[in-house]
Amino acid sequence: MSHFAAIGRVPGDPILGLLDAYRADPNPAKLDLGVGVYKDALGITPIPYAVKLAERHLVEHEPTKSYIGGHGDPVFGDYLLQLVLGADNPLLRDGAVGATQTPGGTGALRLAGDFIAANLPGRGIWLSAPTWPIHESIFATCGLRVEHYPYVGADNRLDVEALLDALQRVPAGDVVLLHACCHNPTGFDLAPRDWKRVLDVVKARELLPLIDFAYQGFGDGLDEDAWAVRLFAAELPELLVTSSCSKNFGLYRERTGALIVRAQDAGKLIDIRSQLAALARNLWSTPPAHGAAVVATILGDPELRGLWAEEVEAMRLRVANLRNGLVAALVPHGLAGRFAHVAAQRGMFSYTGLSAEQVQRLRQEFSVYLVSSGRANVAGMAEERLDYLANAIASVYTP
Ligand code: PMP
Repeated sequence: MSHFAAIGRVPGDPILGLLDAYRADPNPAKLDLGVGVYKDALGITPIPYAVKLAERHLVEHEPTKSYIGGHGDPVFGDYLLQLVLGADNPLLRDGAVGATQTPGGTGALRLAGDFIAANLPGRGIWLSAPTWPIHESIFATCGLRVEHYPYVGADNRLDVEALLDALQRVPAGDVVLLHACCHNPTGFDLAPRDWKRVLDVVKARELLPLIDFAYQGFGDGLDEDAWAVRLFAAELPELLVTSSCSKNFGLYRERTGALIVRAQDAGKLIDIRSQLAALARNLWSTPPAHGAAVVATILGDPELRGLWAEEVEAMRLRVANLRNGLVAALVPHGLAGRFAHVAAQRGMFSYTGLSAEQVQRLRQEFSVYLVSSGRANVAGMAEERLDYLANAIASVYTP
């Protein structure tokens, strides 16, 4: 008998399949706007110089490779709490917030999902439609009831009224996942007045927010992007936040992130953290150390921290300039108004509003690769290629 004979095949990640097609395309004019990593003007996903310097320091000074605890490096945890919540946040003094280091933001989401399943039985989790596809699969795998609230209307605009309307009908106690900034895949972010309205509904319906914070520094700035997280942490006694250092520290493959919990008081936080450590023990035992050590080294050294903050700002500005540049390049085609949303969106991603058929034509006729939903990774564009891209869009676009 074969143990494995009945095992079938599942489809691969469609975005990675797109990358294979891009690599095989011989057209020298090709453009990859698919995979969601930051790229510089040379098309490279760089290692920030501050990270290189911190690694050099660690090579010389790291004393041991023995296990770190279930919550990871406490120094990393403290610095990350300061980065996310603000260094002078009174919650840090009260001991009502804690960070559990995880393998990337993905690990934090998985730990959050397992925590909800184990400790808050019966709660559903509400995701924006659309959201990052891995949200769907992680929480389904955790055994949670996965539900959706509307986010983008048929006219490719953020539909705040539909979002609020749906949240009003979410069963009390359910978890609602919100993107702190740079919404993936759409690039549409809530304005401060929208966040306040969402907060009111969260309070009235007694919902538990889980805020996914994967792009701190890529929207409007490191502190600006944390505004909603800090508002929710100040206004609500209980909150979950997943933080990723993949994009803003360029540490993608080092798997660096944390699940941040804000509890009613320091005593309850200790209970919750005991649960998290027990769950993490079964998932990865203790988290990978290197990326967190790099982050702790950078955030603990004023000079490295300043250098790093400048590097994040440069990445942010490059993407923002490309957004404006694309809209400007569409002016001669009479399409600047139709695509004005590209400049208003935040972060690396843009829901362009192009249809699956138009995306297909972009790829076949111009070797421009987008996800079929019409999501473009703006960081994949190059300034000197914006005219080519604008011409390609104008050729396939019919409203
Ligand atoms: N959340 C969102 C919305 C993301 O886009 C990503 C990365 N693509 C993550 C979480 C997880 O990032 P990582 O696990 O690489 O830190």
